Amino acid sequence: MKKEFAVIGLGRFGGSICRALSEEGMEVLAIDIDEDKVNEFANIASHAVVADTTDEAVLKSLGIRNFDHVIVAIGDNIQASILTTLMLKELGVKHITVKAQNDYHEKVLSKIGADYIVHPERDMGKRIAHHIISNNVLDY
Ligand code: ATP
Repeated sequence: MKKEFAVIGLGRFGGSICRALSEEGMEVLAIDIDEDKVNEFANIASHAVVADTTDEAVLKSLGIRNFDHVIVAIGDNIQASILTTLMLKELGVKHITVKAQNDYHEKVLSKIGADYIVHPERDMGKRIAHHIISNNVLDY
């Protein structure tokens, strides 16, 4: 059966995940509290909805527990990110990936059981540094 993904937060990071999954032909539900963001993804994702994911009733009405993997890409509002992740966990979502803003955020996310925690800027910085070093080794 085809996997179903939900992406919460359609900023640069969440938006890019949403686009990439859609381009791969995956079923993606795009969610954001901001209507303009949702409109931007209406023709990209399988479905796009305006919702505040810190509201448990909203998450339930979206049937979020039936998704295979939920990506929480809320950046600046750490409180909203933590609360959303906690409720996804309580509702029984199997795979949850969350973007962490800082070390404190990461610590809380791992305590509440986020399955995968990513720091896009930090991780990409490391990858590029390693890439630069390995290219230099090859070049000289
Ligand atoms: P990026 O660097 O990926 O652009 P960012 O770190 O600046 O993102 P934000 O802009 O803070 O992240 O958040 C990403 C998105 O999450 C925004 O489009 C914002 O509207 C959305 N968002 C924030 N709070 C909620 C919420 N409670 N429910 C749903 N979406 C939310």
